[in-house]
Order: sequence, then C-alpha cells, then structure tokens
Amino acid sequence: MRHVLLILLCTVLVTGQIEAQGDFDRWFDGRTLRIDYHRIGNRANDTIELVRYVEKATEWAGPRTVLIDPFDNGDYRVSLIDVETGRTIYSHCYNTLFREYRDTKEGSYKSRTFEEVLLIPWPKLKADIMLEKRDNRQRFRQQATFRFDPRESLVEHVTSTASTQLNLEMNGIPEHKLDIVIVPEGYGPGEERRIRTDLQNFAEYIFGHEPFKNRRTDFNVTGLMLTGAESGVTNPALGHTVQSALGSTYGVFGSDRYLMTFNLFRLHDLLDAVAFDHIVIMAAASKYGGGAIYNFYATVSTDRMAPLILTHELGHSIGGLADEYVDDDLSYNCMHSSHVEPTEPNITSLVDFDTKWKEMLPPDTKVPTAANPDIPATECGPMGCYEGAGYKGKGMYRPCMHCMMRDYAPFCPVCNKRLNDIFDFYTK
Ligand SMILES: [Zn+2]
Ligand SMILES: [Zn+2]
Repeated sequence: MRHVLLILLCTVLVTGQIEAQGDFDRWFDGRTLRIDYHRIGNRANDTIELVRYVEKATEWAGPRTVLIDPFDNGDYRVSLIDVETGRTIYSHCYNTLFREYRDTKEGSYKSRTFEEVLLIPWPKLKADIMLEKRDNRQRFRQQATFRFDPRESLVEHVTSTASTQLNLEMNGIPEHKLDIVIVPEGYGPGEERRIRTDLQNFAEYIFGHEPFKNRRTDFNVTGLMLTGAESGVTNPALGHTVQSALGSTYGVFGSDRYLMTFNLFRLHDLLDAVAFDHIVIMAAASKYGGGAIYNFYATVSTDRMAPLILTHELGHSIGGLADEYVDDDLSYNCMHSSHVEPTEPNITSLVDFDTKWKEMLPPDTKVPTAANPDIPATECGPMGCYEGAGYKGKGMYRPCMHCMMRDYAPFCPVCNKRLNDIFDFYTK
C-alpha cells in the first residue's frame, strides 16, 4: 500500500570537518534556541532567509553527551561553530518538505517559500550557525551562516499560544529520554473528550511494535489539548477548506493521501512550552493519510490503520529509514539515484554496500540475493540483499523480503538496529 511519501534522501558520506565534542556544559547553558527561517526556491536553486531567533520556554531536551550527529543521514545539516576557537560544537541532520517539493513537476520551474524551524542548544559564547545541504555528489555544502551572539542578538519570545499539556507516558527527565509530543489536528470546539481518548490511543500505538515496545521506558510522550475553529481537515480534491488548528491539508504535492502542514512556525509556537525531540501530528480524519520526514515531523490520521501506519511513519521521522517498497508511479522517483549510495541505512544501490548491512549478512550470502516468495508477509525472512526498494524496482536493494518499511511486517534487523541506535543516542 502506498501511503506516505517519504523523504529521505540519497547520499553518501560527509566531509570530515566536524570534531567530536562531548562537553555540553562547557559550550551550552541549557536553554533552547529556536531558529525560524524561510527556504525559498525550486529544483535548480534555493536560498535561506533568517526570520527570527526565539528563546524556547523549555530547557534543551535533546542529547547532552553526543553533540555531533553520528548518523550522517538526511539531506540537510545545521552546525554550530564556536567563533573564538573555530570548533564545531553541535550538529544535527534532517530532511525537509522542500526536499520533496523540488522533485515535483511544479518544483522544477516554480519557486515557493517554505517555513523551517531548527532547535539547537543555546551557546554560551558567540557562535556561527551554519546551514548546509548535500550536493549531487552527496557532500554537505554550506548554504547560509548566521552569527549568534548570546549578549547582542535580538531574541523573541512566544507569548500567545498556551494550551494544556497531557502527560501520556512519563519515564524521566527529557534530557535522558526520547520525548515525543502528539499534536491533535482537525478537532473542533467541544471535542476535548475525543482528543483525550485519541491521544491516549496514539500513545499506546507508539509501543505496539518492536523495537518501541521493548524500549518503552526510554520514552516520554506528551499530548496537547488543541482545537481549531472548525472540525476536519482540508481536502482540496473534495473542495473542503477547513479552519483547522494547524492548517494541514491532504493532496500535498499532488498526492491524494499525502497529509501535511506547511505552518511550521505556528506548530512550533504551539509547542513552545513542551520539551520534545519528535513531533507526531494526529489528524482526526477517517480518510487514510499521513506522511513523515526525518527529524521534521510525522502526520498520521486516526483511521483504523493508525497503529501500523504510526509505527511505519516513526521509522521515517525518528529512524530516518527509507521506504523499502516499489512504486514506479511515485513522482519522487529521482529521490533515490542508483548511481550514488543513499544515506538511509536500510536501502543500498550497491555503490558502497560496505557502509550498509554487509557485515550483518551470514557468510556465503549471495549479493544480490534471489527473492524468496515463500516467506510469509508476517516475518522478515533471512537477511540478504533483495532487489526492489526506495520506490525503485531495479537498482535499489533492501535487507529482507519483508519489513515494516515495506509491507508492515516486523522491522527487519537493519531497521531494528538503526532505531535502537537512535533510541540510545537520545537516552544514553
Ligand atoms: Zn513510508
Ligand atoms: Zn527494514
């Protein structure tokens, strides 16, 4: 079933310019700096314009021991460079809605403006905030740099949007947990009871499958009590326009079931008083829809498939995993080129298989591995290197016959390992 269009991009390795730096207290004071900016452009080119710095109302909720992104996934990176020493003191990779837009037909000729938001630890001293994107050889290239001076830079505060928080699963302080916040979308006035029930259900769904189930105590989950002016979600195909809380819409980039919001500034305003690492937007809609972008957010509708879809989407938004299924119609086909090694851990073009799951394969495994249609769809089957992944029927390979990222089987060993590594990153 094709659902959400994913995102994550192709890439290989990064430049080795970043030094490891573990001393959080030396460089950071514990506050959270939010950076709002516009990304403006199309396939050929895009530029970045800083909109504002915001002091988020909550302390830094992310990892404090590993400050340099160890996963090298995603097509974009933010780095913080201490001005006096020139040291890179923080970095974080992510993907964006723009990355998908630029591969659409419209994105090939028409420029469009996207809101993007970054959360980084607040530097004690003057620092340069460097934004990078991958070039077509998959190396990060600088796009923009903003100087941040904690004594002089103009910093704003969010004053408007208080809304009640519900603690759905609390297992410890945010800096030692993977913190997920669930944001209701499409609920109207008077629907508080329904929100509360749906939030509790979604919080349970998160732990419905491994490896989430087994790592439950490594998570905190909170929910917002949030209603819009009207109930429902905008669907242009039906001519429905709804004044919903986040202004999400079906039909994003021409895909009927792709349900996302472009209002990142508003989303983060609403979350100002919530400490979180990852956002799940819970859309009240019986029509299947959703989407997820690595270190950006995930949207899942509350239809009957939600327990499985949410797990799959968290594979994208938290794990940075690629879809392992084939979809020749997908308008994003150029996302995964067979000529370079994708950055996602669970697909390979075999250009650089050594960097993927090669060492996890049993000895004498043939690469590529012949498909085995006898493996039931409820299990992954033996590890190998099976052709057909990342939407492509040819030239892209996956680790097992079945996986949550392909057909809602359990996560394959490669996806499972990456998710556990990421859970460790947030909690150790
Ligand atoms: Zn997917
Ligand atoms: Zn997998």
